Amino acid sequence: MELRGSQYIGQIHVAGNDETFTATNPASGEVLPVEFHEATADEVDQAVRLAEEAFPVYAAKSPEQRAVFLEKIAEEIMELGDDLIQRCHEETALPGGRLKGERGRTVNQLKLFARVVREGSWVDARIDTALPDRQPLPRADIRQMLKPVGPVGVFGASNFPLAFSVAGGDTASALAAGCTVVVKGHPAHPGTSELIAVAILRAAAATGMPDGTFSMVQGTSYNVGEALVKHPLIKAVGFTGSFRGGKALFDLANQRDEPIPVFAEMGSTNPVFILPEALKTKGEEIAKSFAGSVTLGVGQFCTNPGLAFIPKSPESETFREVLTDAISGIDAGNMLTKGIKEAFENGANKLSNQEYIETVASGVTGEGSTAVPAKIFKTTYESYGAQPFLEEEVFGPSSLLVEVKSKTEVMDVARSLDGHLTATIHGTENDLKEYADLFGLLERKVGRLIVNGYPTGVEVCDAMVHGGPYPATTAPQSTSVGTNAIKRFGRPVCYQDFPGSLLPDALRNSNPLKIWRLINAEYTKDPV
Ligand code: NAP
Repeated sequence: MELRGSQYIGQIHVAGNDETFTATNPASGEVLPVEFHEATADEVDQAVRLAEEAFPVYAAKSPEQRAVFLEKIAEEIMELGDDLIQRCHEETALPGGRLKGERGRTVNQLKLFARVVREGSWVDARIDTALPDRQPLPRADIRQMLKPVGPVGVFGASNFPLAFSVAGGDTASALAAGCTVVVKGHPAHPGTSELIAVAILRAAAATGMPDGTFSMVQGTSYNVGEALVKHPLIKAVGFTGSFRGGKALFDLANQRDEPIPVFAEMGSTNPVFILPEALKTKGEEIAKSFAGSVTLGVGQFCTNPGLAFIPKSPESETFREVLTDAISGIDAGNMLTKGIKEAFENGANKLSNQEYIETVASGVTGEGSTAVPAKIFKTTYESYGAQPFLEEEVFGPSSLLVEVKSKTEVMDVARSLDGHLTATIHGTENDLKEYADLFGLLERKVGRLIVNGYPTGVEVCDAMVHGGPYPATTAPQSTSVGTNAIKRFGRPVCYQDFPGSLLPDALRNSNPLKIWRLINAEYTKDPV
């Protein structure tokens, strides 16, 4: 398929702006073909207005129709074949094998949401039937369910050009909920974004979805994204990316005349706690796997373990030696963009320039134009406590080891943590018993707790939570991965004393959708 470099305002291609940008191959520095046009403010406005026009028609589609649409998007993405993998590889330097895996995850995610929509219980239908004889006052018939919020603006991250981008989790869950979507494409992979946008639009046309159900605007200027967030017809925002970007858009949304929810999933340092007996009995094994987790995908994962607390002991010396050995054998990989490489180098230099930080391991340096070696740093409990910036994410293949000397210090650092996506504990049975109170502390700090594993690798399933307290996200009550992500784009609406004929299907007495409902305090699929 030939790329146009235009905006996709529903099924119409528009390229009204003379200002263009190109994609660069991060490995070679080569400029890739096709000039992409920056969206104008007017084009953003047109896309959002069309999304608003389409909204009532799309929201009224049956669950089955929406499920078929989502499955068709998955099919159309697969139809793009190797063209998609090739362009994506050129734009990101991510290996073809990894991208094929990510494509699989992306289409399976779409199919998973199709299953959720078909099953239907996600709308959380609740029915309290009337109590006309209740004393001293009768009770009305009261019913509620989640209804789609309206047009949603979506921003994807550069590090998952498929699974957290144009047809990623935010778009899939918003479309599943019945919302129309306007995506602001990530400028690091505009060709990939365009290919995926075309796949979604082909699916929309093939399944009879109204024009404007999906649109995509592109651009390198912040103006494009800001115009989308500020548009009065946008009713929610899904964002995956850096803390700086997410916080800027969150603030912008709150400054609107009508503030709207921003579901921003941002950076995280994902602390790891290695407990004393685990360090003694399997420290070497943990060190090797830890090296793998820190350097996976050149460390460009939001779940990268960037911070590890380790008991100061003779075994911690061995741990460091094994880790140093493992890291020093790992080849440099290319980062996603020049900007991300520079940010990594600045962050790593800032750490290595501090007198209280020791660089304990460096990976192999590389030739590619954005290649970086992995880094492991070490500091003390006291220095960590005195320097709050050490908890911040350095996006890339690095981690900071903090030596702790007692359980009190472990509990202190856990208590002082900000919000993160994950926390990991390595412990033997004895450790886990002795440190049972650590879990209670960490539950308040993160969205996902892992025992004797690694945070990288986020399963897309019903029980997943990919979220966490601020600053990991701006919406700690939600998840951006897994089926619960759909609830971010629903708003509860209550229907009091409604005649049956006016009720949505999910709330009708006969339960025509055969979904689980909470009727007079009991979950059931029975009719009222
Ligand atoms: P990014 O630079 O924040 O970019 C994300 C998107 O936001 C881009 O479209 C970007 O457009 C836009 N944007 C950023 N700042 C903006 C601003 N001030 N105003 C308007 N738009 C703005 O993030 P990235 O570099 O692609 O991704 C890496 C980061 O994402 C890492 O910190 C990583 O940990 C995090 N991440 C988090 C998750 C998660 O689920 N929590 C998943 C993956 C990645 P421009 O490029 O044009 O600015």
